[in-house]
Amino acid sequence: MTQSNRMLSKHTTSEGVVVWSRCACGRLRMDLVPYGADGRRLAAGGGRCPRCA
Ligand SMILES: [Zn+2]
Repeated sequence: MTQSNRMLSKHTTSEGVVVWSRCACGRLRMDLVPYGADGRRLAAGGGRCPRCA
């Protein structure tokens, strides 16, 4: 967890771990971290926040 991103919830699904977090600018973000991935993750809603990039 970083200072700019706040984790809201984390739950496991059949495909991996879904992490919901909120950026410092208020943007909601969902990350799916597949099981067995080596640091690879899929991000919905933008892996990088366009406001803070
Ligand atoms: Zn942001």
